[in-house]
Amino acid sequence: METRRIKGTKDILPEETEIFLAAEKELRETMSKYGYREIRTPVFEYTELFIKGTGETTDIVNKEMYTFEDRGGRSISLRPEGTPSVIRAYLENNLYKKRNFQKLFYYGRMFRYEKPQAGRFREFRQFGIESVGSSSPQVDVETIILGLEVLSNIGLKRVELQLNSVGCENCRPSYKESLRNFLEPKLNNLCDDCRRRFETNILRILDCKKTNCRKVLKNAPTYIQYLCNECKNHFSEVQYLLQKTNVNFTLNPYLVRGLDYYTKTVYEFISQVLGAQDAVGGGGRYDKMVELFGGPQIPAIGFACGMDRILLAIEKEGEIKIIEKKLDCYIVTMDEETDEEGFLLLNKLRKKGISTEKDFLNRSIKAQMKDADRLGAKCSIIIGTEELSRNEVTLRRMSDGSQKRIRLSVDEIIKELNNNIKQ
Ligand SMILES: [Zn+2]
Ligand SMILES: [Zn+2]
Repeated sequence: METRRIKGTKDILPEETEIFLAAEKELRETMSKYGYREIRTPVFEYTELFIKGTGETTDIVNKEMYTFEDRGGRSISLRPEGTPSVIRAYLENNLYKKRNFQKLFYYGRMFRYEKPQAGRFREFRQFGIESVGSSSPQVDVETIILGLEVLSNIGLKRVELQLNSVGCENCRPSYKESLRNFLEPKLNNLCDDCRRRFETNILRILDCKKTNCRKVLKNAPTYIQYLCNECKNHFSEVQYLLQKTNVNFTLNPYLVRGLDYYTKTVYEFISQVLGAQDAVGGGGRYDKMVELFGGPQIPAIGFACGMDRILLAIEKEGEIKIIEKKLDCYIVTMDEETDEEGFLLLNKLRKKGISTEKDFLNRSIKAQMKDADRLGAKCSIIIGTEELSRNEVTLRRMSDGSQKRIRLSVDEIIKELNNNIKQ
C-alpha cells in the first residue's frame, strides 16, 4: 500500500495554515474594497469546458489536465484554472440578467500535471477575478491596480508589471502572417514544441523559454506594429491611464500568456525574487469567451495569481510574518480531584470567549508549566489541593512569573485574566 502523499501535492501544517489564513484575509478585504464578490464553482467540470475555454492547443489542455471518466462514462477534468468555470457559472445562472456588469473573484484549488518545482505544485491554490460586461480600458486598469494592491497587501513588495496587447480577430491574421513569414526560413532553429506551434498556434512561439527559440525571436515583428485602430486606441488609453494613476509598467512584446482566449490587453505580475520568467500572476482581456460559451456578446477581463508562489516570493523577500497564536490561559492541576475541577473551569472559560487549554496526559506540574510555555499561554491558573480546599486558585502571569491567589469564581477569574491579558 502506498501511504505517502502524491508527488506535487503538499501538506499544509498548522503553522503554515496561519500564514495562508492571514493572506486570505487580506485577499478578501481588498477584493471587497474594489467591489468584487466571491464565487465558488465545482473543482471538476466536463472536460469539454476546458477544451473550449482554455483552448485546445494550450499546454494546459494537451499535457496537464487530470482527466478521468466517471461512472456514467462522461469525461471529467479537475479544473486547471478558474476562468472557464466562472464564465460557465455566470451564464448558467444568468448573472448578466441581474446586473450587466459583474465583478467576481474566486479562490481555490486548481490541478495541473506539471513538473513540481519550488512553489509550483500539481494541486495548487489560486485566486483570480473576472470583470464581465465592460470593454472600457478603465476596467483593464482597475484590474491591474487591484492585482498590484492585493499582492502588496498580502505582503509582496517587489512586483514588476509587464504589459502587451495581443489584438483582436480583425488584426490578428495580418500579424500572424508576418510572424509566419519571419519564422518560416528559421524553422530548423526552433524547438520541437515551437515547430508544432508554428502549425497550431504560432503566437505561442513568442512565449517559448528555450534559449535557441529566444534567439530566433530577437528581430521578430511585434504585435504593436500590427494592431488595428480600435486595438491601438484601446492599448494607448490603458497605458495613458496607468501613467495617470502612477503605475509603473514595462512593455513586453513577447508576452502572450499561455492561454488561447486573450484579446487586446495582456499583463503579468513578475516577482523579482523568483526570476524574470516566473510570474506570480497575470491576466488579460477575453472579449470572446462569453459568446464562445453560447452567451451574448459580452466583453470580459480577468487575472489569476498563484497563492503558493506569492507566499514563496514573500518568504524569499524575507517578509513572511510569523503569526504567533497566543493562548490566553492554561489550567494546571495536581490530582484527580483538582483535575476534574480544572476540566469544568476549562469549559466555563471557553464559553466566555477565553482561549483556554489544559493537560490531558496526567503530567507533572513541571511538565504542565512547560506545555503552557510551549503554547504561548499568557497566564496559567493553578488549581492545587490546598487552594481548592479554600475555594481558591493561583493565577500566574507567564511573562514575569508573578502570582496571585484569587477566588475560584468564573467572574473573578475572567476579571483577573482580562487585566493580565491586556498587558
Ligand atoms: Zn484589433
Ligand atoms: Zn521553442
